[in-house]
Amino acid sequence: MTLFLITFSVWLLILSVVLVWKYPLFKRTWQEVYFADTPVLIESDDWGPGAALHGQRLSQLLKCLETHKDAVNRAAILTADIVLSVPDIDKIIADPEGRYHRKLLNEASPVVYQAMLLGIIKGVLVPQLHGLEHLNGQAFAKLCQLKDSRIACALADPQHWEWESLASPLQGHYVDGSVLPTEALNQEQAQTIIALAVQRFTELFGYPSVSTVAPCYLWNSTIEQLWQKNGISVIQTAGYRCDGRDKQGSYHQDLSLIRAGDISESAQLYLVRNVMYEPVDGNNDAITAYQEAMLAYAQALPISISTHRYNYTRTEAEFDSSLQGLDQLLSNISSSIARLRYVASPELGEQIAKEHSAIENHFNGADYLPLKRLSGLNKLAPFLWRLYYRHPKLKLLAYLSGLIMPAGLLCRYFR
Ligand SMILES: [Zn+2]
Repeated sequence: MTLFLITFSVWLLILSVVLVWKYPLFKRTWQEVYFADTPVLIESDDWGPGAALHGQRLSQLLKCLETHKDAVNRAAILTADIVLSVPDIDKIIADPEGRYHRKLLNEASPVVYQAMLLGIIKGVLVPQLHGLEHLNGQAFAKLCQLKDSRIACALADPQHWEWESLASPLQGHYVDGSVLPTEALNQEQAQTIIALAVQRFTELFGYPSVSTVAPCYLWNSTIEQLWQKNGISVIQTAGYRCDGRDKQGSYHQDLSLIRAGDISESAQLYLVRNVMYEPVDGNNDAITAYQEAMLAYAQALPISISTHRYNYTRTEAEFDSSLQGLDQLLSNISSSIARLRYVASPELGEQIAKEHSAIENHFNGADYLPLKRLSGLNKLAPFLWRLYYRHPKLKLLAYLSGLIMPAGLLCRYFR
C-alpha cells in the first residue's frame, strides 16, 4: 500500500511538471480534430495525359474500388490528382519566339479523359488539381530551343515520352528547376498559370477544384496566396512544405511540421498524407501501408493513402501486383475498422471546416452523412497515442517513469 502511494505521488509530481512544461503542446494536440468515423482517402498523383493504356488501367483500378464499400455503402474513391496538360513540343520548337505551348488532357488523351469522366459518374473518382502541367513551362521551352540533353527523351519521341522520365528537378511546376538552386516563379507568372489551371479544370470536370497538391510538393506562401485568390481553400501535403531545391538538388523545407487541420498563412486548411503505398518503388507494400493505417486509426486521424499513377501504368506484372496489393490493403483496413468512411480530399477539407454539414461530391451530385467526431474523454486514448507517436522525449519519459502503465490502461478503457 505504501509503495503504491509513493509511486502514485511520484507519478502525480511528474505529471504536474510535464503538464506545466508542455501545456501549449497538450492544448494544441487536444484541440485537433479526432474522428469517430474513420475517413479513408486514396490520393493518387499524376493522372493526366498519357497512352490509351493508362485509360484502360485506370478503368481496371476503378472497377476494383467499386467492390469496396464503407459503413454507409459508399464505394472506395480515388482522389485523382490531375495534371491538365503536356507540352506540345512540335509547336514549341516551331515558335520563333520560343514560347511554351501545351496540349490539354482531353485533346492529348481522350481515352484517359473518358475513363475519368466515367469514374466520376460512378462515384469512384474525384478529380483534384495537381498542376496545369508537371513541369515548368517556360524552363521547358527554353530547354527545347537549346536542344538540351536533359530533355533528349522528350525531343526524340514527342508523342510518347512521359514527364516522369525527366530528372526530378525538372518536374517541379511552381519553380524553375533547370538551374540549381531552383528559382520560384514570380507572382505574375504564377497567377497566370494558376488562373488558367482553375479555368481549364472547371471546363473539363464541371466544378472547380477547391483543393490541390503541388507537383513534387514544391510551393511557397506566394503560391498559397494565389491559390486562395483563385478559390483553392484546401492544400494536400505530406506533412511539410518545400519552397525549392538547393545547389545540390536537395529539398528545402520552409514549413517542417504540418498537421491535418492546420491553417495556412492564407487561411487554407492543410491535409496530410500518412500512409505510403508506392509498391513499384520497393520501399513499401500492402503490409507496411496497413501498419501505417492502423497507427493513424489509433490516433483517430484520417487515413490518407498516397499511391502514384506510375504504380499502375508500367508493366502488366507491376500493375497486377500493385492492384492486388491495394485490393488487399483496403480489405484489411475495412476488416479492422467498423466505422470506416471513404471520402475524397476536397470533401474531407470541407468536412473539417464545417463539422455537421453533409459530405458532398460536387462532381456527381451525391451526398452522404457527415463524419462523426470524438469529443470529451473519448478523445483521451487517441490523444495519448498522438503524444506517444509524435514526441520521442515524452515517450521515453513515460517508459522511464512507469507512467506508460496507467497511460496504457487509459487507452484500453477509453477506446
Ligand atoms: Zn506529381
